[in-house]
Amino acid sequence: MNDTYDVAVIGGGLLGCATAYYLARAGAGVLLLEKNQIGRHASGQNAGSLHFQLEYRMIEQGRKAAREAARALPLHLDAITAWRDLPQEIGEDCGVVQNGGIMLAETPHQIGLLTEKAELERSLGLDVTLLEGPALREHAPYLSTKVTAAAYMPHEGKANPRLVTPALARAAAARGAEIRVRSPLTELIRGAGRWRLGCADGFRARAQTVVIAAGVWTDQVAGMADVRLPVTPVALQMLATARTAPFLPHLVQHVGRRLSLKQTAEGNVLIGGGWPSAFVIREGRTDVDSPPGLRHSSITGNLDAASVIPGIRPLPVLRAWSGMTTLTPDQLPLIGEVPRRPGLYAATGGSAFTLGPTYARLLSETILTGTASLPLGPYSPARFGFLNAA
Ligand SMILES: Cc1cc2nc3c(=O)[nH]c(=O)nc-3n(C[C@H](O)[C@H](O)[C@H](O)COP(=O)(O)OP(=O)(O)OC[C@H]3O[C@@H](n4cnc5c(N)ncnc54)[C@H](O)[C@@H]3O)c2cc1C
Repeated sequence: MNDTYDVAVIGGGLLGCATAYYLARAGAGVLLLEKNQIGRHASGQNAGSLHFQLEYRMIEQGRKAAREAARALPLHLDAITAWRDLPQEIGEDCGVVQNGGIMLAETPHQIGLLTEKAELERSLGLDVTLLEGPALREHAPYLSTKVTAAAYMPHEGKANPRLVTPALARAAAARGAEIRVRSPLTELIRGAGRWRLGCADGFRARAQTVVIAAGVWTDQVAGMADVRLPVTPVALQMLATARTAPFLPHLVQHVGRRLSLKQTAEGNVLIGGGWPSAFVIREGRTDVDSPPGLRHSSITGNLDAASVIPGIRPLPVLRAWSGMTTLTPDQLPLIGEVPRRPGLYAATGGSAFTLGPTYARLLSETILTGTASLPLGPYSPARFGFLNAA
């Protein structure tokens, strides 16, 4: 054994680095293990959208699914201030801009969806306004006339995914967290009231508490402790155009199509919104260790959806890339202690860029004090306790 820690965090994505930061800030002895590099996976590959409205993936499954997904809205509300405060908190700008976001509708059916969504969100405290006619044109003059309505949320925006996670890792290290990269966890065993950790590079440690913040590898790491979590990997892709003069101050999404759009500080337009890329299948199994391949149909579909902003059409697409993220069967986050595994916690779920600082703070509160400043019950791994009898 080399060392003993209060908490070992597995995974150096946004969730792992932010959790390590909040724990170390409170004085805990923290070890973070990352098998590759900090921010190498979903946390460095994502679209950087800070979206607080319900997303298309929640709405497309119908009213019941949208209401279920809305059970995470208290976290969305918390995330608005978490992102506002983050740059000052960690002393790095991270490209956080909260200029507002709009979700578009083009057809009467989509206007109905938008209206219903906005009512649900307002009932739960989210500041959403419906814009139509001249008010919409004035607010977003860059939109095609085929867009007939939009839901405006003033705090949505963007952050730079390439900056945020490394900045959180630096902030955690500055508060005493030990960060080991290229150190894949391969062994996680409970014994004598502690967790024993073993890594492929020979590093060994013990920890009172272990946090699995391993993204699409969540079930793999949980499996080391002989426990199963229903976390499904999802392969997505993104596009970036050439730079152009600033014209798009908002985050733009669509209520009836997969779409997210924003302009970076450098002038490129990032186009995404949940278009699938293709998992590598090796020996009949999904290989989450290989980057998914790009799908041509997703590129053309995404560009077609982006035609709601005519100014994008002449811009050459410079780059397309893929990445993997996670979803749970009910689309709610998975945050909290794993049933029947004392001291083992997990944190993952959709939109964990937007919600990541919030997940991490609430999880660290739970670990440190046994309770969080927002109820985590609806997101607890205990709801999947029936999968693990032993
Ligand atoms: C293309 C794309 C676009 C997206 N756009 C958005 C968006 O605009 N807004 C939004 O909110 N969300 C978005 N997401 C989702 C978001 O990126 C993720 O929810 C979030 O980054 C997850 O962070 P994480 O730290 O849980 O996972 P990751 O960033 O994947 O980090 C997990 C880390 O664990 C490490 N790890 C795994 N196993 C081990 C092990 N055995 N030992 C040590 N380390 C290990 C991995 O190497 C990895 O670095 C997008 C995702 C993709 C792929």
